[in-house]
Amino acid sequence: MLRFAPSPTGDMHIGNLRVALFNYIVSKQKQEDLIVRIEDTDKERNIEGKDKEILGILDLFGIEYSQVIYQSENFRFHSAMAIQLIHDKKSFSCFCSAEWLENKREESKANKKAYRYDDACANLPAELVIDNMNPFTIRIAKPTNDITIKDHIKGDITFKPDEVDSFIILRQDKTPTYNFACAVDDMLSDISIVIRGEDHVSNTPKQDHIRASLKYDKKIEYAHLPIILNDDGKKMSKRDDASSVKWLLEEGFLPSAISNYLILIGNKAPKDIFSLDEAIEWFKLENISKSPVRFDITMLRYINSEHLKLLDPKELSRYVGFADEEIGKLAKIYLEEASTTKELRSKIDSIFAPKIIPQEFKEQSSILLAAIKSAPYFDEYDDFKNYIMKESGLKGKNFFKPLRLLLTGAEHGPDLAEIYKYLKNYIGEIAK
Ligand code: GLU
Repeated sequence: MLRFAPSPTGDMHIGNLRVALFNYIVSKQKQEDLIVRIEDTDKERNIEGKDKEILGILDLFGIEYSQVIYQSENFRFHSAMAIQLIHDKKSFSCFCSAEWLENKREESKANKKAYRYDDACANLPAELVIDNMNPFTIRIAKPTNDITIKDHIKGDITFKPDEVDSFIILRQDKTPTYNFACAVDDMLSDISIVIRGEDHVSNTPKQDHIRASLKYDKKIEYAHLPIILNDDGKKMSKRDDASSVKWLLEEGFLPSAISNYLILIGNKAPKDIFSLDEAIEWFKLENISKSPVRFDITMLRYINSEHLKLLDPKELSRYVGFADEEIGKLAKIYLEEASTTKELRSKIDSIFAPKIIPQEFKEQSSILLAAIKSAPYFDEYDDFKNYIMKESGLKGKNFFKPLRLLLTGAEHGPDLAEIYKYLKNYIGEIAK
């Protein structure tokens, strides 16, 4: 079983989508189910409705999952596992106060040392624990041996017991900490490989240690994906519009193109343009680069226009707000100068919008408009053009510029003969 574990705390980030895509691909390759676990235990940071939005995005991208689990519904299992650890003496009650711990932390900082818990409460005599009315947390006892994690991208990573430390698994209010909930849930769901962002690397030995302490003998494997950088070489954050999947969709990037791009970057792909199904045939976690990847919107635009070219005209027509196949064919011609559905839509909209004619062409355009209105239907552009030319008595720049403006709303654009093929049935609606 694989899992995608988003937190419903904000817009879905492209880094998360990349994680979801890789999980989906690997689940298909291994023929194992993929579940979605909504990590909603941080009540303060949860945003109402973000869970549904994330699931909607997964559906849109064709990322199929067998089940959705809400982490907060597993609290009773987290408590049960914590009790087992206490019973097995793998964890202990810690009465150190928050202020005391903070002072210790400051001390380590001043001495330029990494803070570690000093295990002050690790071996308290039973009589100091039982009937002690002070608030306490539960800490897991730190490991006695090194922990080695198998990572399909980074290779084996070994951690010292001190790096894991005797850390808190239940807070004073007895809610589980992130690492505890996550480790227990991955165990309960029988996860075989965890694919997630590399910001979680330091959590991994902790989670592995929790399961080992619970005597879970299956070793979960990992793949930690490098971060995605913006143009300034910094981690893509909320401040970068393109980091939001919702923003990219609103800008007119196709789900198939966004997936293609996110699978392609930092990877060894046999070609640049492919579908998700194709990627399932050749994708290998081991081919993913260990170093961060830079987000390149120009490349995404190129991939998007290639995917738009692959759409059948009827589908493309729907993307630009029409139902007619001819408009889809027309939109394909505009792919010379537009690479998103939003840009295409604005090109097509300006063809059908009332035209704003610059002063210098006002006179010619009203003559042309009269000629167009008097014209019968012409199948061929040349016949149409010759008729209008004759009727208006205009030629050269005085003819072509205003004609283009009247037919397309733009001064420049694709060959009129080419677009006439798809516009000819709409001339009455367009020339206005
Ligand atoms: N909820 C975590 C996140 O969104 C994911 C944790 C995980 O995959 O283990 O970063």
